[in-house]
Order: sequence, then structure tokens, then C-alpha cells
Amino acid sequence: MIVVKVGGSAGIDYDAVCADLAARWKTGERLILVHGGSGETNRVAEALGHPPKFVTSPSGYTSRFTDRQTLEIFEMVYCGKINKGIVERLQRLGVNAVGLSGLDGRIFEGRHKDSVRAVENGKVKVLRGDHTGTVEKVNTGLIDLLLNAGYLPVLTPPAASYEGVAINVDGDRAAAALAVALKADALLLLSNVPGLLRNYPDEASLIRAIPAADVESYLEFAQDRMKKKVLGAAEAVQGGVKRVIFGDARAGLPITAALEGAGTVVS
Ligand code: ADP
Repeated sequence: MIVVKVGGSAGIDYDAVCADLAARWKTGERLILVHGGSGETNRVAEALGHPPKFVTSPSGYTSRFTDRQTLEIFEMVYCGKINKGIVERLQRLGVNAVGLSGLDGRIFEGRHKDSVRAVENGKVKVLRGDHTGTVEKVNTGLIDLLLNAGYLPVLTPPAASYEGVAINVDGDRAAAALAVALKADALLLLSNVPGLLRNYPDEASLIRAIPAADVESYLEFAQDRMKKKVLGAAEAVQGGVKRVIFGDARAGLPITAALEGAGTVVS
């Protein structure tokens, strides 16, 4: 089983990802796709007059502050435009894909965090009304049902809280939780960079290999959102996933290239 997470940043080639995914699926490989949509969500939020707000925690992690209106815009883009765009591409390629969010069938479930600690102008503030959380449980029963019936699951945040409220969760960490729950052989975290760069944005500074036991020490090279990917990779290998690969989704055969060792391989 291979879990592929493709991000939502500018430059990602969804046609290339879907073509590679479809070709591999047709050979009988078991695959699941998890996707993001942050770039498009920012654009739509601006257009709707509710611009995105990002907060940085005292420990340096950046996340989207998700009030109710932001959550609704997030759902429009992630579960609507991006999810259905991917499902349509796969259907055209002859793959019977099913697009679901983590809310559907409680595929992704976790605790709702209503408040977030954020650093603003050098001061730590507590912001309330956040609809975020972290995936703690995965409904593998529903995933197995789909896979065993021949459907390719295409999954996206939000997740369901234990109270049944939609919560924004990090896609990389959700994919990591999924890979652990399914005992996946590999987790691919594909984005618009060649992998983890030692001196971001210098693409020549690609880190080729990271020993699984050391992955957290590589957090120092990751800025802003890349930190969540490194954290997700750490969670996946600690949970028993043999290989996590940070790969490039901008062109070519992104899944095949990553599985052949392009990018940053954590093992
Ligand atoms: P996605 O939405 O595609 O999953 P993110 O935007 O969440 O991707 O994270 C990838 C981004 O992290 C890259 O586009 C890059 O701007 C940034 N980044 C920060 N530090 C690094 C690093 N050391 N190596 C690679 N990318 C980095």
C-alpha cells in the first residue's frame, strides 16, 4: 500500500500526478491519494472578501486560523473544486476514483481545538473560534471497503471532531496517520520543491537521505509549512511506515520518480 499526498501550492501538476497514479493503479498497485488546496483556498478567500489569516505558534509552526467562514471556504475549495477536479481527471483516465473528505464516514477523526496560541508583534495571544485539530483516528474500515471493491479513494481535509464538527487538519499529518493506520509501505509527500532543501530555496541543496531515527533533527532546515511535512514524516516512520519520501509534483512521473529515490528519502 502506498499513500500519496499531493499539496496545494503553486506549480503542482495535477495532470502529471493523476496520469502516473492511474498507470500504476491499472497494474494492480494499491494506492490512496490525499490532497491539499491551500493556494487556491487563499485565492478564493481573497475573492470572497475574507482574506486568509495565518498564525505562528510560539514553537514556530504556521497554520491557517480557521473561523467558521474560513472553514466553509476551505470546504468549497478542498472538497469541491480540488477534490472533484482530481476525481474527474482520474475518471477520464479510466480509474473509478471516489472523492471523500475526512468528515465523510469519519475517515479522519480528532479533537477540536477551539483556541490557538499565536505570536503577534512579539507577544503571545490566545485566539478563540478556531476550527482546527489533529487526526487521531482513521476509519480504515471504510477505506478497505472502497479498495476491496476496486475504488481509488481520493481524500482531503477537513476531519470530523469527536462531536461531529468539521475541523481543519494538516494534510501531511493526516496522510501520515493514514499511512500508519494502513501499515503502508511508503508515504509520498509531493509538493512544488524537489524535496527537503538544506538551504531553501536553493534546489541544488537537496537532502537526499534522512535516517528514520534522526528525522526530527532535520526540522531546523524546514521553514514555515515545510515543518509540518517533516513532523508528518517523523510520525509516519515512528508509526512503522518503512519509507517516507518528500518528492516533486511539478512535472514528469512524480510518484514513480519518488519511489525510485528522487527527492528526500526518509528510511
Ligand atoms: P503543499 O501545500 O504543496 O503541501 P506547503 O506549502 O505546505 O506545500 O510546503 C511546501 C513549501 O515549504 C515549499 O513550497 C517551500 O516554499 C517551503 N519550504 C520551507 N522550507 C523548505 C525547505 N527547507 N525545503 C523545501 N521547501 C521548503
